[in-house]
Amino acid sequence: MEERDVAGRVALTLVLSREEIGQMVRRLALEVGRDYRGRRPVLVGVLKGAFVFLADLVRELDLDFEVDFVRLASYGSGTTSSGRVRVTAGLKTDVAGRDLLVVEDIIDTGYTTERLLRYLRARRPGSMKVCALLSKPARRKVKVPIDYLGAEVPDRFLVGYGLDYAQRHRGLPDIYALEEGRDGA
Ligand code: 5GP
Ligand code: MG
Repeated sequence: MEERDVAGRVALTLVLSREEIGQMVRRLALEVGRDYRGRRPVLVGVLKGAFVFLADLVRELDLDFEVDFVRLASYGSGTTSSGRVRVTAGLKTDVAGRDLLVVEDIIDTGYTTERLLRYLRARRPGSMKVCALLSKPARRKVKVPIDYLGAEVPDRFLVGYGLDYAQRHRGLPDIYALEEGRDGA
């Protein structure tokens, strides 16, 4: 399937349908719910991209939990992150001794997750795990642990389901690969 934006400049090729995403989210919620049964983890959502995934995940989750958010930014161009990542908005929750589950949209080079785990570790949680909807293993620059993963995806720039390109396309219910400038635009 292909779509063009109003200006006809951007081609979107379907990578994961809403049905496939829904299946992945339900499976992840079952795994997380089973592993954290009887505990009350803090789900740490990574803004902005993970907000749609997190919202769907918690509605499938049969578990008592808390939620908080962090935001990170990397220096560099729009579609690829550099190794220089900083935390631009931190936790409001005291997470010392708590079970933390990082909820990420996509792990690409790994720099963002690596930086976030370092930030969280300094706050002395009781445990720390990572749940990512997507991972691009071909792009990895630093090794990061992924405890729960929706799917591995090829090295293409994805949009939809929270993922943006220049702040657009986050609201698409499916996930697409974006190919720019096919019409020479
Ligand atoms: P990393 O630091 O692992 O290279 O990148 C992590 C962040 O880059 C993700 O949380 C996400 O915000 C962004 N990112 C990585 N790959 C993609 C992609 O294919 N599409 C979009 N929209 N963002 C991506
Ligand atoms: Mg992100």
